[in-house]
Amino acid sequence: MSFDKLGLIEHLHKALKTEGYAKPTPIQSQAIPVILKGKDILGCAQTGTGKTAAFALPILQLLHNGHSPEKERRIKALVLTPTRELAIQIGDSFTAYGKHTGLRHVVIYGGVSQAAQTKALQKGVDILIATPGRLLDLIHQRFVHLQHLKVFVLDEADRMLDMGFIADIRKIIAKIPAKRQTLMFSATMPAEIQALAHSILNHPEKISVTPVASTVDTIQQYVYFVSKNDKRALLVHVLKDMSIMSALVFTRTKHAADRVVRELHRAGIHADAIHGNKSQGARQRALNNFKEKKTRVLVATDIAARGIDVEELSHVINYDIPNIPETYVHRIGRTGRAGLSGVALSFCDAEERVYIKEISRLINRHIPVIDNHPFPIGEVEKFRHQVFKGNRSFGSLRRGPHRARR
Ligand code: AMP
Repeated sequence: MSFDKLGLIEHLHKALKTEGYAKPTPIQSQAIPVILKGKDILGCAQTGTGKTAAFALPILQLLHNGHSPEKERRIKALVLTPTRELAIQIGDSFTAYGKHTGLRHVVIYGGVSQAAQTKALQKGVDILIATPGRLLDLIHQRFVHLQHLKVFVLDEADRMLDMGFIADIRKIIAKIPAKRQTLMFSATMPAEIQALAHSILNHPEKISVTPVASTVDTIQQYVYFVSKNDKRALLVHVLKDMSIMSALVFTRTKHAADRVVRELHRAGIHADAIHGNKSQGARQRALNNFKEKKTRVLVATDIAARGIDVEELSHVINYDIPNIPETYVHRIGRTGRAGLSGVALSFCDAEERVYIKEISRLINRHIPVIDNHPFPIGEVEKFRHQVFKGNRSFGSLRRGPHRARR
């Protein structure tokens, strides 16, 4: 299918041409016509599927078609998203897709002074992209008025839940008109999210693409079994391979992220960390340097990395194995975006084997093992692995292709 079949206006086609998008992704071809008809949507889609354009394009079109003169600018669409990084990226997408529409958007998020944001709001806004805390703050200060809202987007709803934003979301929903169009997106659909969907959506069309359990096929996944103490040395070893153009390395904690960066610096590898203890400016700088390929390696915690959208990210490295299998899918979804191929490497120590087993079950495939590396697990750990022998998935992982990496 081409974009021509979706009934988009010329202003948007022109922008899509500039972006170089040849055809819509599955979520776009399914969601755009439905949203243009004014219907609610419950979209099960992870980042990397093109979901931002799936809601941004029809919103721009709906608002452009009903566009009022500039002096009457009011917030007619609100996109609520969990993190600042994601908010900024969604803002960038609206800038790119909406450049010929004459519509204005503003991005607001916490952790920075509100002055620039309130100044932008006072100039008049059609589309507001916000994180929940700062939005509530600015509503209370009367910088944001939502009574003219027509379209409400709740993005990454499951992440909102993880981050404890559900109460804030309910407060925000209480302040927007009941008669509205609501578009809700979530990578996973646990019971709480389904309950939230039920309470805020009106006969939604349900759209599901690349469900979280089916990892994007274009990503090659491998696991290294290694002892905890050897992980840093293994990372340095792996990154000596210069065919790794850019790598996003995930650690479970902020401290681990900093430690890994220090170790990489010692080995002469240019790396930066991005996590919640860093100032907003430092995070943005690190992200920009990584996007512009000035930094080859970015080490991130899960929350900080949420929504990071880096074109042509070649490798994701799980320095720690996440204990929630869905997190693995989110992490590796940073690479292999929009059809590009990517590689995901996971460093698994003895205690994390159980997590790999759960991940294998979720994605319904065995992750091949790379065992020709300089830090194979020692005898003691081998014994510990054997103690877990009941773990069938491990047995099958070990039978996977050796020397699997190209
Ligand atoms: P998202 O899932 O919205 O984070 O988008 C993931 C990436 O895919 C972003 O870098 C988009 O610029 C890109 N993208 C979105 N739609 C398309 C498309 N139709 N063709 C090519 N790339 C796209």
